[in-house]
Amino acid sequence: MSAESRILKNLDLDGAVELCAELVRIPSPIGQEKAAALFIADKLRSIGVDEVDLIEGEPDRPNVLGRVKGKSEHPGLMFYGHIDSEHVLDGWTVEPYAGLIKDGKVYGRASKDMRAGIAAFVKVTEAIIKSGLKPNSDLTLAFCVDEETAGDKGIGHLVELGLINSAYGLYGETYEFGEIMVADSGTIWFELTTHGVGQHTQLDSHKRHGINAVEKMARAITELQKLDLAYEEHPLFKGMRPCIYCGTSIESRVGMHPCMIPEQCKATFDVRLVPGQDADEVLKRIIGILDGLKAEDPEFKYDINILKKREPTQVPLDHPFLVAAQECIKEVSGKDAVLRGHEMTSDQAYIRSAGVVSVHLGPGNLLAHKPDEYIDIWQIKQAAQIYAKMAARFLF
Ligand SMILES: [Zn+2]
Repeated sequence: MSAESRILKNLDLDGAVELCAELVRIPSPIGQEKAAALFIADKLRSIGVDEVDLIEGEPDRPNVLGRVKGKSEHPGLMFYGHIDSEHVLDGWTVEPYAGLIKDGKVYGRASKDMRAGIAAFVKVTEAIIKSGLKPNSDLTLAFCVDEETAGDKGIGHLVELGLINSAYGLYGETYEFGEIMVADSGTIWFELTTHGVGQHTQLDSHKRHGINAVEKMARAITELQKLDLAYEEHPLFKGMRPCIYCGTSIESRVGMHPCMIPEQCKATFDVRLVPGQDADEVLKRIIGILDGLKAEDPEFKYDINILKKREPTQVPLDHPFLVAAQECIKEVSGKDAVLRGHEMTSDQAYIRSAGVVSVHLGPGNLLAHKPDEYIDIWQIKQAAQIYAKMAARFLF
């Protein structure tokens, strides 16, 4: 019997659905993921995962890292996803943390985003262990916090510690099921500070010597909005363009009172890029604009602090891992997979930056973070079968 047949024979699909509901019953809103992380870690130990560690990027927010040891040290396959979830707001007609199973669906906060993917990964791991086959290389499991916010304390922390060394990665995050996210947009976040001179306001005269840092910021925003983000349209990002969001947050000092000229203004900016663009090169253009303002206006003084820089990434369309993912989707669902670029950013960007060839392929759809969140049971089951087939191909 082939490895694939043995794994599929041991794959408990109903168990994946039950585990999804069980996980929904452990709330894990952003910053309060510990109970869910401990539960998942215990689950991994109980099914026989060789190594299970809890690694904190900040206190009380553990990430779960598991490893099923392979025969060799060669980089293997990784299943990964996030534990944190959005808070529950108004508008729910079902109990958000009851894990209700009804009408072919599992209801509850995080059911789709992304307990379903985690449950499928855990049950495939269990099936591999139960099959009695030892993988050729390690199977790594990473279920992390901080995806909904930035990722630095979650998967980004594990990457920074050098703990991610898989060759391939499957990311079980929700998106339109049957679509594969093969490219991620890039991001530059920066904070710009303009400096002025504080002074009490008064009638204009020779005594006026204050310099309004907010006016300097306004000038910078006006010019940065003209940033040339020339690009070639990317086939995976049809109709989507790179862009800059200016002043996503803004604050001034001493301008707490209407009668004070602010001496300092800080604003954040968010630049979104498509594959083919180079974040460093774009950053140089941004600094060029700011230096141009300085040359024109000796009173324009600024500092720039780069908060985050992620290059856009893409898996080559003929890569064997991506081709296999398309084949597995077709075998399980009977449908052709759709390849797409991701208009936002996710934990996958960190994993790709660590050199892992990763695809984002999860049960669910785009309507995340809404009241009465649910996941279709058939999607949990099909996702588990796809992951099992991929594991058979890339671990044995
Ligand atoms: Zn998510």
